[in-house]
Amino acid sequence: MRNICVVGTGYVGLVTGACLSELGHRVICVDNDKKKIALLERNVMPIYEPGLVDIVKKNKKRKLLSFSSNLKEGVKNAEVIFIAVGTPPRADGSADLSYVEAVAREIALSMDGYRLIVDKSTVPVETGNWVELTIQRNLKKDIPFDVASNPEFLREGSAVHDTFHPDRIVIGVKSKRAEQLLKEVYAPLKAPVLVTDIKSAEIIKHASNSFLATKISFINAVANICERAGADVNKVAEGMGMDKRIGRSFLNAGIGFGGFCFPKDLEAFMWIAKKLGYEFNLLKEVKAINEDQKNLIVKKIEDALWIVKDKTIGILGLAFKPDTDDMRFAPSIDIIHALKEQGAKIKAYDPAAMEKAKGIIKGISYAKNPYEAVRGADCMVIITEWDEFKNLDLVKIKKLLKHPIIIDGRNLFNPDTMEKMNFIYKGMGK
Ligand code: NAD
Repeated sequence: MRNICVVGTGYVGLVTGACLSELGHRVICVDNDKKKIALLERNVMPIYEPGLVDIVKKNKKRKLLSFSSNLKEGVKNAEVIFIAVGTPPRADGSADLSYVEAVAREIALSMDGYRLIVDKSTVPVETGNWVELTIQRNLKKDIPFDVASNPEFLREGSAVHDTFHPDRIVIGVKSKRAEQLLKEVYAPLKAPVLVTDIKSAEIIKHASNSFLATKISFINAVANICERAGADVNKVAEGMGMDKRIGRSFLNAGIGFGGFCFPKDLEAFMWIAKKLGYEFNLLKEVKAINEDQKNLIVKKIEDALWIVKDKTIGILGLAFKPDTDDMRFAPSIDIIHALKEQGAKIKAYDPAAMEKAKGIIKGISYAKNPYEAVRGADCMVIITEWDEFKNLDLVKIKKLLKHPIIIDGRNLFNPDTMEKMNFIYKGMGK
């Protein structure tokens, strides 16, 4: 059992902290957002993640998990400190590392003995060096410490499951002591551990996300060819995916990727590559294809409705992907804005993200359920592939829509079935 402090109680920090306490470590989760800490103290989760609340409640009761807005308290009581604060994009695409820097500085000011400071936030290569330097510069006296990189690969929506069952744990270290400590922290997971230098660990995260984004843009480009040729991209993806060297995952054609990770990590990787003297043109194209997919669905809506002005559009799905309430960089935002600019009236529904969406997408109406969203609408548009939408009563949907038009940005339905039901149905890449 180790004493651990996790700084930042967002999707990564909160899930990591809770799961490490479940593994038997004593964990204090710190956030400078006092409202978040107050919620967590009342067992209210500030984010939606399946399974999280039970683990939090259980480990608070076991006295293995606690929350605080005081970083000093966290640093005092922990040997291993994980930094899991945000690294949002700046206007030029680079990662804003000011939160990481602020935390590193504060840690240094509160340290009274050896600490292992582990960066879990997604950061560009060389951040580890800067964290080390920042701590050195701000230490009040000569105290030994280690810095490590331990990038996080969890997915929102299955974050708890992913934390307990990682494909691999990457540990970027400079010392044996740091390696041993981190291996001990993760030992109960019995997962494969890859030990590297700090810079390689940092690049593993950016390269992994950029590669997955590339897969998505690749299949979307293929989808556009399928559509023109009269082929079915789902079948193409199935055939490609059966090749073990390729794999079926991340080959779902649709309106592209969003969220807090892929768009910003792609940008940040291109930015750091450029800073290091390499133009990552492949990733520029990955980004361009992704942007085009959003325009493509708007065009499909225009093609189906002709004039969009004053038409009512029922939108199903707002979150950037299913099983999350995360609206950051969700494709729905740009798509809805483009439709609103043309004078469309939007009625939207999402099973989890509506509260967050209300703060971002104004001037539209939010429906209580999918059926209310399409009642009297000129067409229905699917933006997020929630399971709830796969099981819709399509007979009811047809009765509620003014015209039986469905634009399916996520290929949830079989075009033949939809045609038999007399829907005008447009998917992606078919
Ligand atoms: P988030 O915005 O949900 O959470 C960050 C938290 O850090 C916030 O609660 C914020 O209040 C807190 N914070 C900021 N400055 C602080 C400070 N000085 N002291 C204490 N707390 C502070 O972010 P997230 O989605 O959890 O992402 C965190 C990092 O992990 C990012 O670098 C992200 O790229 C990376 N990551 C995210 C995911 C994901 O799916 N969300 C997956 C892998 C990696």
